[in-house]
Amino acid sequence: MSDNTLKTLETITNKYIQLANKLYKIDLKCPTIVISKLGTAAGKAYYKLWEIRYNIKLVNENLDEYLCNTIPHEVAHLVEWSLHGKATHLKNWKKIMKDFGVDKPKSYHTYNVQKCKRSLK
Ligand SMILES: [Zn+2]
Repeated sequence: MSDNTLKTLETITNKYIQLANKLYKIDLKCPTIVISKLGTAAGKAYYKLWEIRYNIKLVNENLDEYLCNTIPHEVAHLVEWSLHGKATHLKNWKKIMKDFGVDKPKSYHTYNVQKCKRSLK
């Protein structure tokens, strides 16, 4: 994990936050970005901490997928929570993903997690 990768994750995450602020006329702050070991999850959004965690192992192997899917996915959770008071993979979340330009939002990730599982032993 290079400093550049973290910067890229922060930049793109904040890009989606700004987009949401514009689209929904809200004023969300940029969340704290944490890169950590998450087992098999690609990312996790923590609403109360206002924090998004990305999976260090998967980021390194799937940066492109992160930039166009995982990041908007997690930001959409924060936005849905702000707008609707809950975080789901349902209608409101899908609408936000559409607004973000993600046509076929995935509620799961398709990365090969086998390597992750092994490295966590
Ligand atoms: Zn999700």
